[in-house]
Amino acid sequence: MNWGMIGHQWAVGLLRSHILNDQVRHAYLFTGSSGLGKRTLAVRFAQVLNCMNPPENAEFCGDCRACRLIQEGTFPDLHIVATKEHDRTLKVDQIRELHRKLSLSPFEGKFHIALLPQFHQATEQAANALLKTLEEPPQRVIMLLTAESVESLLPTIVSRCEVVPLRPLSVSELESALAPIEEVGEDANLFAGLSAGRPGYALRLAQDEALLALRDSGIEDLVNVIGFNRIDRFGFIEKWDKSLRRKFDKLDDRRLECIAVLELWLSFWRDVMLSTYKVREPESNPDRGSEIDTLAEGISKGEIVEAIQALERSEEAIRRNANLRLALETLMIELPYLNMELTSE
Ligand SMILES: [Zn+2]
Repeated sequence: MNWGMIGHQWAVGLLRSHILNDQVRHAYLFTGSSGLGKRTLAVRFAQVLNCMNPPENAEFCGDCRACRLIQEGTFPDLHIVATKEHDRTLKVDQIRELHRKLSLSPFEGKFHIALLPQFHQATEQAANALLKTLEEPPQRVIMLLTAESVESLLPTIVSRCEVVPLRPLSVSELESALAPIEEVGEDANLFAGLSAGRPGYALRLAQDEALLALRDSGIEDLVNVIGFNRIDRFGFIEKWDKSLRRKFDKLDDRRLECIAVLELWLSFWRDVMLSTYKVREPESNPDRGSEIDTLAEGISKGEIVEAIQALERSEEAIRRNANLRLALETLMIELPYLNMELTSE
């Protein structure tokens, strides 16, 4: 059994071996891009550690009070320290409050579990406060952190955690895992590709029609932009900028949405590149084969490489807080142009 996880067998195996050999560490850090299943794995581990009725060693039942409440996030000995919706930073007061709770004995569980998702969002003060807890961990406390990468955290924090790096599954591996799930069914190949091997993101796509619609309109936009002249491209950016401002008050949220769209566009251009070599079917956008082939036939390899590089540069610039509108306008100048009649479904 793989704790009900899709993929990540080696990580489950590692955590199981720690439990079976009585070598559970005080702190674990799960790293990897969003939608991989870092938080799900942390929650499973917390359930296995606290299950009141395990069917066998290092497994969980899913039914007992501890298993159910941990799944819901309401177990008294599970302390989730996360950023608030409106504010994407984790504050030092939240860590101090955690420290106070952890100094008491667990109410009913075998362990206190502190779950700190997206810890790269912690302020420096908050990170330093957590460091103190990590240096002198209280008894029967297990800290579970998640972050995009080890580089996004203080090295002193990383060195005090057992790092569990999660990686995307291959598209075919994810596809076969998704196929038996009722709400995925025939779309297993599509969701596996769109999610680039990230099980959590694939399941979100299957459950959230708005997310899929957003992806579809992102691809429509890209295909249209390729046929636009420069004036129309700048008009497109102006409209996009306005709609982002209507949708999000905070600049950071507008940036995140732009990055998501640029990553989608990148996945599309990489498929165009694959198509020019005729080596493989489009990996990430299997439902867009005809548009991908049209672009691959109409645009030179050199231009495709330039498009990919331009997208990577814009994404990097936006991550580094460059002026959003300027970064997108620069991208519009650099993307290749193809006058084509694309029919999109
Ligand atoms: Zn249980």
